Amino acid sequence: MTELYPWLLPQFQQMLALVDNEQLAHALVLSGPAGIGKASMADALAAALLCKNRQPTGACGQCKSCLLRQAGNHADLLILHTETQHIGVDAIRQLNNFTQGTAQQHGSRVVLIPVAETMTEAAANALLKTLEEPPAGCFIILITNQYPQLSATIRSRCQRWQLTAGSTPDLTDWLNRQSQKSAPAFLLEYCQGAPLKALRLLVDDTAASLEQALTTLEAYFSGELELTSVVKQLDQNPELSGLLGFYIRQRLIRPLAFLRQQAVLTAYQRWCRDATRIIGQNSALALTGLLTELKSLLQHPEAKWKS
Ligand SMILES: [Zn+2]
Repeated sequence: MTELYPWLLPQFQQMLALVDNEQLAHALVLSGPAGIGKASMADALAAALLCKNRQPTGACGQCKSCLLRQAGNHADLLILHTETQHIGVDAIRQLNNFTQGTAQQHGSRVVLIPVAETMTEAAANALLKTLEEPPAGCFIILITNQYPQLSATIRSRCQRWQLTAGSTPDLTDWLNRQSQKSAPAFLLEYCQGAPLKALRLLVDDTAASLEQALTTLEAYFSGELELTSVVKQLDQNPELSGLLGFYIRQRLIRPLAFLRQQAVLTAYQRWCRDATRIIGQNSALALTGLLTELKSLLQHPEAKWKS
């Protein structure tokens, strides 16, 4: 059987039930944030569809079909790899040829399209007809963490599976076991609930430096730390823009009224836009400006909005 991350099991079981009843859609999109395990879900589903001796838990891992797939040598499985940054029309023509052929192992044929949002418009158009009338026994599985970037026509022809990771206590236990460290409380939320991303940040100690930076921001906004030392500590943090965005959305603006929330977000977005162009000493100035503006929006919100 295929090993699957534990939080993916409930949705995988739903998929298997549909496969058993021959009700699984022939065109699917697996979507969800980076680090939720989309690729592993796609592999497990492809394996189950191709397996000759499917078990209640998925592919058997031992039949000829499973062995061919494990060797990366299954003629009825096409994984669309692209050398460029986009999936072009040539790759989709290859896909269309594949789907029109006959199954070598007398079973299903499966196509995986990773980073499906990078399909060019021409490629998406070339895929439409196959999505509309998928050949019998053929499953096309698109994978994306940018679902809204898929064209509306592609989205309308695929069944969407939005992968989710379940409850935080279970995931925190999993993270702690895998990393042999203690996952800070904010981490999963920071990673949009994606455990694999959280694990990576935990293992390479980014999580610890993020936690330190959040403490610094808390201290600044509660008046316990001077602006100059905050800027000194945060200015060179490579995760700064993501971290600030997280802190502002999840902590800072929640108690504020809508208009004030918008003013804070506008200031942050303006800083993000500028930050991509500002280098060297000026980045400290820009950060100083942003933090000063945010604090004044928080401290004197009424005065700002009275006139
Ligand atoms: Zn098998």
